[in-house]
Amino acid sequence: MSNQAANRNVTLVLFHNDLRVADNATLLKASEISTDGRLLLVYASSLTDVLDDKDHYDAYHYDSMGQARQQFLHESLADLNASLIQQGNRLLYLQKGDEALDVFTQLNDLIAQQQVTDICVSQTADYNQNKVYNLIQAKYPEIQWHIQTTSTLFDELPLESLPKSFTQFRKQIETDYDLLHAEKDIAIYPTPETLAPLPDNMHSRNEYFFESQLSNQAGRDKPSQPSSSFRGGELNGLKHLDAYFDSDAPSTYKTTRNALDEWAHSTKFSGWLANGSLSVNIILNRLRRYERDMIANDSTYWIWFELLWREYFYWYAVTHQQKLFWFKGIAQHAPSTQLIESLLAQWKNGTTQYPIVNACMNQLRTTGYMSNRGRQLVASCFIHELGLDWRYGAAYFEQHLVDYDVDSNWGNWQYLAGVGADPRGCRQFNLNKQTQQYDPNGEFIRQWQGNPQKSD
Ligand SMILES: Cc1cc2nc3c(=O)[nH]c(=O)nc-3n(C[C@H](O)[C@H](O)[C@H](O)COP(=O)(O)OP(=O)(O)OC[C@H]3O[C@@H](n4cnc5c(N)ncnc54)[C@H](O)[C@@H]3O)c2cc1C
Repeated sequence: MSNQAANRNVTLVLFHNDLRVADNATLLKASEISTDGRLLLVYASSLTDVLDDKDHYDAYHYDSMGQARQQFLHESLADLNASLIQQGNRLLYLQKGDEALDVFTQLNDLIAQQQVTDICVSQTADYNQNKVYNLIQAKYPEIQWHIQTTSTLFDELPLESLPKSFTQFRKQIETDYDLLHAEKDIAIYPTPETLAPLPDNMHSRNEYFFESQLSNQAGRDKPSQPSSSFRGGELNGLKHLDAYFDSDAPSTYKTTRNALDEWAHSTKFSGWLANGSLSVNIILNRLRRYERDMIANDSTYWIWFELLWREYFYWYAVTHQQKLFWFKGIAQHAPSTQLIESLLAQWKNGTTQYPIVNACMNQLRTTGYMSNRGRQLVASCFIHELGLDWRYGAAYFEQHLVDYDVDSNWGNWQYLAGVGADPRGCRQFNLNKQTQQYDPNGEFIRQWQGNPQKSD
């Protein structure tokens, strides 16, 4: 019997920045509206390839996702799939294969074949992802959409308009809301115990199952294990959260956060936060508990402060839409930089004349991670010493960072290029001074082979 003949609703969840089951309002909503119906739980990779004007990849030499980022994503999806199986359903994975239809067409075919009645997605500031949602809405106007907040502290911009600078934003938020010191913990959405099953005719459609998609990939671009400490997935994220707050590290965060290396020197929440394996509300509640039970000091405050930066860039992306990708950003003037292929290659390959920059870039290529200080230094070098068009740097970060997040990445790059939210304009870091301050004994540079190779 078809789903329509049985008069059931068929709900489709399109995962994007919410790869978890705990505190996931989207999954909870889907479970509530599909109790007597059927449920399709989908992750569609490269969905935005369908957009003609999504040229910020191709134009900036974005080849394919770097190995570490790919590995982290696969681990995240595998863990999500395992959780969904425990709840009585499973993850369907759409990706472009050698001969397969593009992912957007595959998704539309699935929606049509299964006579989907409801679509649940998480709110995102991702301009291109939202454009794809609009295309689907236009194609199937009869489908009901349910959009939930899963990745931010606030459901909507908490102020009348977005202040021009982060400082103004933070001050207003702290005056009006101050979530860090609020009396009650932030409410966490319960995890659904069971989920409605797949439509009956999907049980044999192995080609959609996450596991079979992965084995199809074997021998193609299946990622090998990079040497990164990040292990993707909600379970690993929650374990890390516990380990971090069970340690003393939060109490010294402010003094260590600028270090170029060392796992415990900053929270390392970013990868799990970026793809939604960890909920920011769960993190904030844990931080508040640490302040109550252990210690509240400048360092614990500073973790909140950095989470507010993340929040700021989210609403910045919502506010400025496609300007996030423009050369002149949200400013009136474009920077006086350009693309010089040979310099771009040196920067990417870690062969510039700046050892600190090379070391950071080697670390990024190998692990998919770079400290915040490192990111500032390599971006500053990119823009000022090398005089390169900042968008190529942002696109390269997008390719490699395990914690790639469209808002934080493009927003931070704009900031450093002087075309974004920095009231002081362009920031240039003195690379020599920074090296003396953050790598006085050259250990980091040695570890990541930042010194230019001497030719014989
Ligand atoms: C050029 C550039 C590009 C960046 N690209 C990204 C990106 O793609 N994804 C990303 O998550 N962060 C990005 N950042 C911000 C920051 O570097 C990382 O969030 C941080 O280094 C991640 O490590 P952590 O989790 O240990 O951070 P911590 O120092 O422990 O900070 C805690 C959390 O606060 C948030 N946060 C911290 N600093 C920032 C910031 N400057 N902007 C926004 N959020 C912040 C992150 O969610 C982070 O996990 C970028 C920064 C620069 C300068």
